Amino acid sequence: MNNDIEAAGLAGNRLIGRRIRSDVLIAGAGLGGLTCALKMTQSGFRTAFVDPRLANWRVADQSVRDNRVTALLEPAVEFYRSLGVWQEVEKHAAPLSAIRIILASAEANEGDLEVAFHAGELGQSRFGWSVPNARLSEVIERRLAEADLAQALPGRLVAMVQRTNEIFVTLDSRLQIQAKLVVAADGRESPTRSLAGIGCRTIPHERKAVVFDVSHSVDHGDASLEIHHQDGALTFVPIPDVKGECASAVVWIARSKDADALAALPAAKLEELAQKQGRGILGRLSVLTRPRCWPLTSQLAKRFYGERVALIAEAAHVFPPIAAQGFNSSVGDVWTLAGHIGSAGADPGRRVALQRYHRARYAEVSGRLAGVTLLSLSSMTPSGIVKRLRKTVLQSISASGTARRSLMRLGMGGHPLSAMLAPRPDPRARRKGKRSGIVDSRPL
Ligand SMILES: Cc1cc2nc3c(=O)[nH]c(=O)nc-3n(C[C@H](O)[C@H](O)[C@H](O)COP(=O)(O)OP(=O)(O)OC[C@H]3O[C@@H](n4cnc5c(N)ncnc54)[C@H](O)[C@@H]3O)c2cc1C
Repeated sequence: MNNDIEAAGLAGNRLIGRRIRSDVLIAGAGLGGLTCALKMTQSGFRTAFVDPRLANWRVADQSVRDNRVTALLEPAVEFYRSLGVWQEVEKHAAPLSAIRIILASAEANEGDLEVAFHAGELGQSRFGWSVPNARLSEVIERRLAEADLAQALPGRLVAMVQRTNEIFVTLDSRLQIQAKLVVAADGRESPTRSLAGIGCRTIPHERKAVVFDVSHSVDHGDASLEIHHQDGALTFVPIPDVKGECASAVVWIARSKDADALAALPAAKLEELAQKQGRGILGRLSVLTRPRCWPLTSQLAKRFYGERVALIAEAAHVFPPIAAQGFNSSVGDVWTLAGHIGSAGADPGRRVALQRYHRARYAEVSGRLAGVTLLSLSSMTPSGIVKRLRKTVLQSISASGTARRSLMRLGMGGHPLSAMLAPRPDPRARRKGKRSGIVDSRPL
């Protein structure tokens, strides 16, 4: 960390009227902003990152910590490996080697329908790992604190002047930063996106996700379990054992008012309901953490760039929390942006590089978002036709290995057509624990 700037950033009011220079300024230090900051410093750019949350950074204030768990798919894990942080993150992670999807029947005379996806079908030992967001942030923050090129600035970006060759930013502390590129990673409401004059389209889902951790008496077998009910899905994502008991992070999607009521229930009542809605598959449940609600939205910025501005993560796109696409797409943004802007010596905010970044990400992310949104909305519709269609589709997927593999590859980041055309995984390679000859068309 650059001590001069760190002292300046932390001195609050004493900075009034001061200006610092940086190659890249990142607005927002959520998971997207932190990951981008680390990548930018490793590319050799002087990188400042600003967030009001950083005022509490060193005191490990649990109230500002994110209680969610993210299922990081293998391409994203590979990216964190390349950043040199995965070894430390892995200590807090749990492997995900299967996904069980159950379509819960509302009729007493009809059984539930289950489809299981196993990473082994792709010749892989796992799809990825689940990691608590707070742990992942902590590891990256520690690494940034040691990086000479990184500058943490507590505060809020409040004004921005875009010029052809530079960009000027003012924080609420009145500190000014002169940079070549501003990366908007300031979340779904993104003030930076608004200041850059970039609009977005939003589809509210009128649902919220209730998030909490549970321990359970039956082993999850490294499989995440999604039970789709009429009003939304109840998902259990494996996390490392807690006090010797198997544990999972729960994401329970419900109508907004029902979600608020669920989050307010006493633990014993919540355990009873989650056990019932979870079909008792994981046995006896014990709630470990206080439930918190997250609103569900699909959102897409109209462009992923402006003059000397790049949009990443939820400032660019918000996914409903199914199929683990949200943050995995954000990692794809960081990887692609870094590839286009180059390394130390290059001008990171040149228009041609930002336009290429936009072209590389926009079509890919919008297609993926449309698919996940459709999946999310179709699971909530009361329409009997849609429900029957969904059941038929799921039955076909259950019966067809090719369809299952295509979907799995699509979820992992590959192109569906290339998956359909690709040869089947070689079972001999699988037995040896190696990947088959199938290569995804894109790494993220
Ligand atoms: C319930 C749930 C489960 C999920 N599970 C998964 C999953 O399994 N897999 C997956 O891939 N994705 C998942 N996601 C998505 C993932 O959690 C998000 O994509 C990710 O956390 C968003 O990170 P972010 O950095 O874009 O935004 P945020 O975490 O919202 O960070 C934005 C930051 O910007 C700061 N900020 C705001 N305004 C300013 C300003 N003016 N100046 C400076 N800073 C500012 C804020 O303080 C905040 O710290 C899930 C989402 C939900 C809701």
